[in-house]
Amino acid sequence: GPRGNRTWAPAWRQSEPKSHYDVIIVGGGGHGLATAYYLAKEFGITNVAVLEKNYIGSGNVGRNTTIIRSNYLLPGNNPFYELSMKLWEGLEQDFNFNAMVSQRGILNLYHSDAQRDAYTRRGNAMRLHGVDAEPLNREAVRKMLPFLDFDNARFPIQGGLLQRRGGTVRHDAVAWGYARGADGRGVDIIQNCEVTGIRRENGRVTGVETSRGFIGCNTLALAAAGNSSPVAEMAGLKLPIESHVLQAFVSEGLKPFIDGVVTFGAGHFYVSQSDKGGLVFGGDIDGYNSYAQRGNLATVEHVAEAGKAMIPALSRVRVLRSWGGIMDMSMDGSPIIDRTPLENLYLNAGWCYGGFKATPASGLCFAHLIARGTPHETAAAFRLDRFQRGYLIDEKGQGAQAN
Ligand code: FAD
Repeated sequence: GPRGNRTWAPAWRQSEPKSHYDVIIVGGGGHGLATAYYLAKEFGITNVAVLEKNYIGSGNVGRNTTIIRSNYLLPGNNPFYELSMKLWEGLEQDFNFNAMVSQRGILNLYHSDAQRDAYTRRGNAMRLHGVDAEPLNREAVRKMLPFLDFDNARFPIQGGLLQRRGGTVRHDAVAWGYARGADGRGVDIIQNCEVTGIRRENGRVTGVETSRGFIGCNTLALAAAGNSSPVAEMAGLKLPIESHVLQAFVSEGLKPFIDGVVTFGAGHFYVSQSDKGGLVFGGDIDGYNSYAQRGNLATVEHVAEAGKAMIPALSRVRVLRSWGGIMDMSMDGSPIIDRTPLENLYLNAGWCYGGFKATPASGLCFAHLIARGTPHETAAAFRLDRFQRGYLIDEKGQGAQAN
């Protein structure tokens, strides 16, 4: 008779650590799992372990607000995020897993002439890179989202920049889909295995100390997101990164009324509506360094105020849940996918507010770097030493209002 999901096979094995791997990846978040998947699938490197201190999906890959987009301005960022968008568009077919990729559109509202000019410039840059971007005037925005506060005298909505191909993706399913795809190709996914030390000899890594013993490797790849600094410190590296908490919120279920993702341009607030009806929203980081996966009330109040300024009817909505994740904030708001001063140690970090949308391209480009030894052409600017050399990719303004 029917026994529900009790008859289902696990989507990946419970692997026991072997004594040695060709490649060890630290961190079973979206980026670590995607890296393992593409190492196996695109580069034929399958003697790989992903070491996760908790369970996969317990970090930011399962804590983010699920927004994907490629509406970037700068040449160092734009082709990379557009590669990611193209990978999202084919991902479910590629890894044969339902990730609820939904290109429902993302709209950035603007509220001043200066903001309109900046958004127009960004929209033009996007189109020059072959990315879709549409300017909307106030009336077009009103037609699309009539419940926004158009009478707000302080920050009247003047219009918006729309990327229709942006949207949302079911975040846990991304971790699960990549995990299953990597596992099926021979990668060991080892949960409850915390890396506690990085063993080195003559400028090379020989392996990692873990809560489940020493594991040797030829190549070590760090993808520990919010914990990048403490993990890199185990190899004697000091990263140009600060860690902060970012909070997110889900409301009670409501009838569908927000079709896409909308970001406020006059405060820190963005929102979408999940398929279950809950409003999924957030704002800016809590403004102090922290490794706690929870934030403080001042930011909750700030987010609620900004949300209400954008959609007055939100004042009646009840919040069901809130949580926080640790963000590895780089100094220019852009990520790092690079080698390190240690010959066989590779680093993937600095994803700030926006690493979920980057997951497919980050995995592919990191795998490319590890397998080929040279950067993928779309990730060539994400160097670790760019802060010393002055080659910043200064696009942090994009983050806060447009996760
Ligand atoms: P994680 O899932 O955090 O993976 C890192 C893993 O490393 C963790 O599982 C951790 O347990 C593990 N780890 C750490 N230390 C060790 C160790 N010593 N040994 C073994 N394992 C270790 N981005 C977007 O693009 N769109 C959004 O809408 C968006 N919203 C966000 C909202 C919130 C509230 C937060 C917190 C983030 C948001 N982000 C968003 C950012 C995005 O979630 C992150 O940039 C991205 O998930 C980071 O990469 P990851 O998935 O690999 O991280």
